[in-house]
Amino acid sequence: MPSYEDLEAQIIDSGICTVCGACILACPNSHIKFVDGKPKRPKRTLDCVSCSTCYDACYMLRRGLIQDIEASILSWGEKGSIGIYKRLLAARTKEQSIEKACQDGGIVTSLLIYALNENLIDGALVVGRDGWMPIAFIAKTRGEIISSAMTKYGTTPILKELRAAVVDHGLSRICLVGSSCHIQSIRYLQHTSLPLASAIKLTIGLFCRENYEYHCMQGKMRERGLNIEEIDKFDVSEEFNVYASGKKLSFPITEVKSCVPKHCLTCDDFASELADISIGSDGSPEGWSTVIVRTEEGEKVFSQFETSEVIETKPIHNLDYLKEIADRKREKGKQTRDMFSLREEGLEKKDIAVRLGITEERVSHRLTGI
Ligand SMILES: Cc1cc2nc3c(=O)[nH]c(=O)nc-3n(C[C@H](O)[C@H](O)[C@H](O)COP(=O)(O)OP(=O)(O)OC[C@H]3O[C@@H](n4cnc5c(N)ncnc54)[C@H](O)[C@@H]3O)c2cc1C
Ligand code: SF4
Ligand code: SF4
Ligand code: SF4
Repeated sequence: MPSYEDLEAQIIDSGICTVCGACILACPNSHIKFVDGKPKRPKRTLDCVSCSTCYDACYMLRRGLIQDIEASILSWGEKGSIGIYKRLLAARTKEQSIEKACQDGGIVTSLLIYALNENLIDGALVVGRDGWMPIAFIAKTRGEIISSAMTKYGTTPILKELRAAVVDHGLSRICLVGSSCHIQSIRYLQHTSLPLASAIKLTIGLFCRENYEYHCMQGKMRERGLNIEEIDKFDVSEEFNVYASGKKLSFPITEVKSCVPKHCLTCDDFASELADISIGSDGSPEGWSTVIVRTEEGEKVFSQFETSEVIETKPIHNLDYLKEIADRKREKGKQTRDMFSLREEGLEKKDIAVRLGITEERVSHRLTGI
């Protein structure tokens, strides 16, 4: 029976662990911890023998299943570049306190507060921060939700908080906010009927081109003479943007490319295609959110929320751009996975570059990652 050692060898040590936290959540004996940015079982104990729970909880070992899962939750429509959806719109909050605190249109924060006030959920798994280091936590009040607003780059095992949310806080109607990888993971756990996973009643997936490892990014800011603690906001468009002391500093994305974790290089889900509702900024003007409503549950919640007058909405005009980003990510993910396969066949980097028609430098970065 495969056990923790197999999970470590196949996923964690090979660099493709997305740090979703599902294995930490699933271990019945709480042996797996979050250590130096990765899941780790510090020491082997006797009760680990003949147990495969953590191995079974990892969706990255069963990526082929994603299509089946998608078909079971999104059973209508052709799958296009940004996944299957019911409707797509631009939206932004009308509340000043949220507008000041949020990343883009503040729709994630407003929607969570609305759902909590209307008793549609009893809590949310969100990502706050210590400085700019992302920290997952359970939010049960308006203040806690607002404190989680804004994008933090860096990985955090959000799903590990689910046990405490259910067992310690007694929550049973939880909204999970996460990147595409977190959403894929919870959908897999729901598919396998992990009891704790049934407490997640709503999923909000964030768009995601790629992520940046926190300590690496901190170092890059230092090289630029910036103290990460003094930065007010980060965002990524075609450039990497940093806001501090009322100024915006933009630099080429290539400067932070070495901070992209290896698992992000193989990822091909830009628009959180398995979420009930996906939200990002690409496709909408500055200060607005792009919202993709995908499932019945998502539609039920969002259509109520829309009539609440706390947000304004308008049609999306830049759908082609959104699709282009999603297609680019899908291509990049496939290309990186091809590189790994060719390397396993024993090809050198220069031969892989020739075979795929790209530079050796690009092959080198993708294979080595960080
Ligand atoms: C790693 C990452 C990459 C992204 N890349 C893109 C992109 O390429 N294009 C694009 O259009 N949008 C991207 N987004 C989404 C975008 O940055 C905003 O989160 C989204 O537009 C929602 O804005 P908002 O104002 O509604 O969110 P807010 O109301 O400010 O709420 C933000 C929410 O994000 C959650 N969150 C913050 N950091 C993390 C994290 N590290 N992991 C998981 N959840 C987190 C918080 O829990 C909070 O609920 C990315 C987000 C992340 C986390
Ligand atoms: S007890 Fe089971 S789930 Fe926990 S670390 Fe050991 S093998 Fe994994
Ligand atoms: S379950 Fe998630 S955190 Fe654990 S090894 Fe797999 S991808 Fe990594
Ligand atoms: S690129 Fe993919 S794996 Fe990386 S954080 Fe985004 S959704 Fe997760």
